[in-house]
Amino acid sequence: MTGAAHARISLTAWRQNLAVARRAARGARVMAAIKADAYGHGLIAAARALSGADAFAVARMDEAVALRNAGFAHRVVLLEGVFSAEQMQAAQSRRLDLVIHDPAQLELLEYADPRRPVTVWIKVDSGMHRLGFLPEEVAEVAERLQGMRAVAVPPALITHLANADARDEAVTAAQVAAFDRATSGLPGPRSIANSAGLLWYEDSLADWVRPGIMLYGVSPFVGGRADEQGLQPVMTLTSELIAVKHLRAGDPVGYGGTWCLPDDSRIGVVAIGYGDGYPRHAPSGTPVLVNGQRAPLVGRVSMDMLSVDLGPQSEARTGDPVTLWGEGLAVEEIAEQAGTIAYELLCCVTSRVPRIYT
Ligand SMILES: *Cc1c(COP(=O)(O)O)cnc(C)c1O
Repeated sequence: MTGAAHARISLTAWRQNLAVARRAARGARVMAAIKADAYGHGLIAAARALSGADAFAVARMDEAVALRNAGFAHRVVLLEGVFSAEQMQAAQSRRLDLVIHDPAQLELLEYADPRRPVTVWIKVDSGMHRLGFLPEEVAEVAERLQGMRAVAVPPALITHLANADARDEAVTAAQVAAFDRATSGLPGPRSIANSAGLLWYEDSLADWVRPGIMLYGVSPFVGGRADEQGLQPVMTLTSELIAVKHLRAGDPVGYGGTWCLPDDSRIGVVAIGYGDGYPRHAPSGTPVLVNGQRAPLVGRVSMDMLSVDLGPQSEARTGDPVTLWGEGLAVEEIAEQAGTIAYELLCCVTSRVPRIYT
């Protein structure tokens, strides 16, 4: 038996969001970011729903292996590359594309099996200062790669935007310019844009775009909402009321008694908590939908439960449906309330919550 908490995943929304990405890409090829179990939605289901993408991007080898084992023949790009000779072999035998961002990875390529050339993406650090070669190192890295028999030529070129979610034009323009300078004269295809770049900054489209969050129906922009971009939420996190009680003004609710009823009211207990991935830091007042109506969360979120103030006149009853985010309640709004981003909320839905694909 499964409990009341479920994540309903809309395959239709997934496909429509991919179509939005395609239109915005204006002919650039689309690499769908499905790392971290497709942002908590389920890796293989995501790959199936998004099979119209031109490539998949993942962070780790086990994700790429799972895609191949499930039969996907798409290009699969390992965004962090490989870190050992064994991983290099695994990547070669599975025809994975590798991002290379570090001299140690150049060395692994030097000793790799020349009978199975791999496609590599030179990661350029255009200003984010996380992964990548500095702009002044790129020409030399490209030259070294051109001479390696285990490398398919020409290498592709990739960078990542640090401030596109804030629509920061100055920083983004500087990153694109730094990338262009570092890669000028190199023949390989180029990729710059994440979802935010794709939807907002035309000069970042290049040859390949790499949408992630928008495919899940979430705005990539700070303070943004999916519907502004024509996106539809893919995940709707739901549960049920498992208790409804009448309490009196002054009664405290939950651990620590951090919230007390200002007036007599009906309090509902919902079967979902931080053990399911609902953020414990969501404060009193965070909206929840009970029977489609907004009601405020009250008191601390527990591991398996949270409480809502249904209001004194409420007729809600045990078993009534509750939506925590998704259709009708933007996950972006919950993330703002909880002081985080929607990416984190989606990734953190735990494995005990069944994903139901519709
Ligand atoms: C995750 C990721 C993306 C997708 O980013 P979104 O903001 O989710 O669109 C693109 N590129 C790289 C390198 C990533 O790690």
